Amino acid sequence: MSRVEKADAFAGKRVLVTGGSRGIGRAIVLAFAQRGAEVAFCYRSDHAAAKEVKQAGADFGARVDSFQTDVTDAAAVAALVEQVQGKRGAIDVLVNNAGSFPATKVIDMTPAEWDAVVRTNLYSVFYCCQAALPGMIAAGGGAIINIASIAGQRGSARHAHYAAAKGGVLAFTRSLAREVIEHNIRVNAVSPGRIATELLVNEQTAHEFARWMADTPARRLGAPEEVAEAVLFLASPASSYIVGETIAVNGGLLME
Ligand code: NDP
Repeated sequence: MSRVEKADAFAGKRVLVTGGSRGIGRAIVLAFAQRGAEVAFCYRSDHAAAKEVKQAGADFGARVDSFQTDVTDAAAVAALVEQVQGKRGAIDVLVNNAGSFPATKVIDMTPAEWDAVVRTNLYSVFYCCQAALPGMIAAGGGAIINIASIAGQRGSARHAHYAAAKGGVLAFTRSLAREVIEHNIRVNAVSPGRIATELLVNEQTAHEFARWMADTPARRLGAPEEVAEAVLFLASPASSYIVGETIAVNGGLLME
């Protein structure tokens, strides 16, 4: 275990992770479960993957609940948050992780493609935060961690919709952080670089892989668990004076 080392570091904490059935979200769910949190996660369609994550959480002796919820649907998100809170009380930690990463050049992009990607990667963050905030405020505090992307910092050819949405997530993070810190709610972001998940590997060609290795100083892809550790830090009291910040987990791809 890393910085947030104690097995019970999040005991009694209620955590909601969006897109927890695979990849980075799965690693975040299990990292919290391993440290004693009660975790709820949502996913879009992959029931088998969701079941596997639930079981893996149970293997750590943790309570992990899964919900099939489309985060682009505001009413469904509100119902999800109500259900999670109804079962367990206010959410202490919200991790907005669900995302999608299709490739299209701007010149070929349809308005529907633009809309779908911005809805999945940006609107969802607004919907989830808005739904979770009243409970956090009533409970006297909480932590929100938004998963952005290096694409939102430096741009990404064939992913302008995604990069625009993730840049929006970073601006939204700073804005919301300023609004809610008076309620003892800390809002921060984690911005991954190239992480070995289906989202990236689906995109992969041999040529791209060689290029990625050449321009990533760490000379490897990141692991989902390495992103999860940054999320845990931002959710923990160890980061109590960190507000509206972005932690990059990118192997040195972008140094700011
Ligand atoms: P994956 O594609 O591996 O997993 C995506 C997860 O999000 C799945 O659980 C999926 O559920 C869920 N999801 C997608 N759309 C929706 C939706 N509309 N409603 C609910 N759940 C949804 O992605 P990663 O783990 O790689 O990415 C996680 C986050 O990290 C994303 O925000 C991504 O943009 C960001 N990121 C990833 C990078 C990488 O290199 N992998 C780099 C930079 C940022 P289901 O399986 O059911 O569809």
